[in-house]
Amino acid sequence: MHAFKELGVPADLIQGINELGILKPTEIQVKAIPFLMNDGSDFIAQAQTGTGKTAAFGLPLLTKINSKSEDIQGLVIAPTRELAKQIGKQLFRFTKYSEQKIFVEVLSGGDNIDRQVKSLQRPTQIVVATPGRLLDLIKRKALTLTSVRHLILDEADEMLSMGFRKELKQIFGLTRQRGSTWLFSATIPNAIHELARDCMGESPHILRIDKAHVVNRDIDHQFAICTRDDKTDFIAKFLKARKQERGLIFCRTKEGAITLGKQLTKREFPVGVLQGDLTQKERDTVMRSFKKGRFQFLIATDIAARGIDVEGLSFVIHHQLPEQTEYYTHRSGRTARAGRSGLSLALIDPRERKKIARLEKELGLSFDHR
Ligand code: AMP
Repeated sequence: MHAFKELGVPADLIQGINELGILKPTEIQVKAIPFLMNDGSDFIAQAQTGTGKTAAFGLPLLTKINSKSEDIQGLVIAPTRELAKQIGKQLFRFTKYSEQKIFVEVLSGGDNIDRQVKSLQRPTQIVVATPGRLLDLIKRKALTLTSVRHLILDEADEMLSMGFRKELKQIFGLTRQRGSTWLFSATIPNAIHELARDCMGESPHILRIDKAHVVNRDIDHQFAICTRDDKTDFIAKFLKARKQERGLIFCRTKEGAITLGKQLTKREFPVGVLQGDLTQKERDTVMRSFKKGRFQFLIATDIAARGIDVEGLSFVIHHQLPEQTEYYTHRSGRTARAGRSGLSLALIDPRERKKIARLEKELGLSFDHR
């Protein structure tokens, strides 16, 4: 039994995380926090979203910031604007009760660059950025990275598959004086080893967290057997019974999401659709409307839903099971936030029973038949 206090996390940060429902450390937090707080040199962790990795690097990073200095000391690089924003928001919330004010700025593509230039004129100790936008802002001389001591790469495998290798190398070059590099990646293929060779010393500390160690939140996993033609009726009946409760419905393809959106809208359900064909602006509009409660339900595809962070969702429906196991974790992790409970309901074809068994085994979950 470990508590955050025993891991060395200061009381003011513990108060901040407790308010987010983060009470008992996850495996990655138990293993990474003491190392990163005390030694804190180069570090690689194989861990996916849902393991609690943001707090695993975020809490140690916050303790290393000198709030009396107005310089950028911590730099977190993430592949997508959604993830960058989510990290920024978490860091901000962790420090809610901190006496020392630490300023975190998120610099992600898609947002107004002039506004970012202006924001950077304020004291900023931590920057969370997507690679391209960060370099654009450096070119505009809106910031320099010369004072960065700690560089963190989140979802490094994702950054490589998005083609950011060149940008990352540039960032390594611009932060040569840093003291440490912490790299997080869901998978560690050769390309990640190569990247590690470019950005850290000979023998980084390596940690592997397996899939079964995702945050064990209070999620009730269920499945219902339903043929394809019956799914819309099933969902309509389910939504009708939810009254005020809000939730997400995941579809595997954008065509599926659009069709389901049309069908449910026709039946007068307040739904929005978030899918990959929308422009960034359209996506933002959908997200904003959903957050404001203009519609109660949101239909989304996996990619479009990356980084969605909405409070108070009581359920997630899987119109189809995702192709990859980790997407199930991503999806179901949208519910049961901040200490609340939630339902994750998969609609499956009778032949897909074995997929449920596989998820149970790989993720260490147990499903109930609805
Ligand atoms: P992450 O893997 O950092 O994306 O975290 C996934 C989610 O788990 C976030 O919503 C966190 O707030 C939450 N979380 C992180 N650590 C814990 C914990 N120890 N206990 C409960 N929830 C946590």
